[in-house]
Amino acid sequence: MVFEGLAEKLQDTFKKLKNKGKLTEKDVAEAMREVRLALLEADVNFKVVKDFINKVKERAVGIEVLESLTPGQQVIKIVNEELTELMGTSQSKINFSSKPPTIIMLVGLQGAGKTTTTGKLAGMLKKQGKRPLLIACDIYRPAAIKQLQVVGEKVGVPVFTMGDKQSPVDISKAGIDHGMSHGNDVILIDTAGRLHVDEELMDELKDIKNDVKPHEILLVVDSMTGQDAVNVAEHFNEKLGIDGVILTKLDGDTRGGAALSVRAVTNKPIKFTGLGEKLDDLEPFYPDRMASRILGMGDMLSLIEKAQANFDAKKAKELENKIKTQQFTFDDFLDQLEQVQKMGSLSQILEMIPGMGGKQLKGMDVDEKELVYVKAIIQSMTKNERHDPSIINGSRRKRIASGSGTSVQQVNKLLKQFEQTRKMMKQFADMAKPGKKGGKFK
Ligand code: GDP
Repeated sequence: MVFEGLAEKLQDTFKKLKNKGKLTEKDVAEAMREVRLALLEADVNFKVVKDFINKVKERAVGIEVLESLTPGQQVIKIVNEELTELMGTSQSKINFSSKPPTIIMLVGLQGAGKTTTTGKLAGMLKKQGKRPLLIACDIYRPAAIKQLQVVGEKVGVPVFTMGDKQSPVDISKAGIDHGMSHGNDVILIDTAGRLHVDEELMDELKDIKNDVKPHEILLVVDSMTGQDAVNVAEHFNEKLGIDGVILTKLDGDTRGGAALSVRAVTNKPIKFTGLGEKLDDLEPFYPDRMASRILGMGDMLSLIEKAQANFDAKKAKELENKIKTQQFTFDDFLDQLEQVQKMGSLSQILEMIPGMGGKQLKGMDVDEKELVYVKAIIQSMTKNERHDPSIINGSRRKRIASGSGTSVQQVNKLLKQFEQTRKMMKQFADMAKPGKKGGKFK
């Protein structure tokens, strides 16, 4: 989970504060000492930590906080606000040109995830109704052009290439001409990376910048590299000038320091985050939602958006009818499971629910394998069994278990869970009947 260690420590500290009725300056100072350590351990830049703690302290020891009825809550509120501000306050979007095409240059070191992210971003823009074009300008890394073509094809976005014999400036210019004559309104240039920041790379990028005059230069950095990512961002910003950062691999075992330091150090916002290797694992970055997640307050807004993006209205209506007429079967159950899985991994989803972040998740058995078994069990049932589980007797249970590579106990457990789900749904449906008490479900 993103920020797992940090979230856990902060939540522990604040639990102690909340349990105290009255707070003294000493309590606040002690809590801030813990917050400071937690941030440093999360690999947040030390100067950023110092400024942050000073700001929170200054606000938190004020009379109105300490004398309030809920001083602990007030301190958490201040930390939440300051964390949000640290990450840039509000969402920073792409600045689209009023005169299309908008030209976006993606830059970054090798391995940061630049090519993958270029594809992800193109896919996201396409979903938003844009007509993107990708230009392959990484002429050095073997197979980079092919890789961009592959991701382009996967997200259904055309890729302009001229092989690796022309200069990146010439390729960019020709690509932009191509895009303009083909009605593309966003052009994404995938530039070359290097293993380290070097002058040659910067010169090449500056040449493209001067010639092409992009509307946005987005730097892709790998959050797993912690403070290095922040140094890289500082360097690119000084030498080239960037408009924003895309932070990749936040799904990995990152301590989160980069996400909390980049903005304060470079004064450039994080615009998107990469949360996995799949091409739809890219999300806009919302400082306020991220702060809430760190503090274990959940992120219901992102969850709702995810649900909406994957929501199939027709299927929902069908499901509603089935519940009302009590025809909910194992086929529907499987369908639901797949819909939920489309929203991301189970732990990613749970992380967004208030109170589910950090520590709480650890104790929970969020076993993705379990879902694989559930699917296998349902798929091993015959059509009749899925529609009428009451016919599943002892010998059928044995057959299903061996067919799905599970045990009879696992099959029994699922049958029981299904029965409970069905009962619960019936109750909901009954409540929804007109004239019943609490009938707010339509
Ligand atoms: P480039 O050299 O910067 O163009 O990097 P690539 O796009 O080739 O990515 C390097 C590796 O990082 C690939 O294996 C990608 O699948 C992986 N990667 C990119 N973004 C993410 C992300 O957000 N999460 C995870 N887990 N892996 C990523």
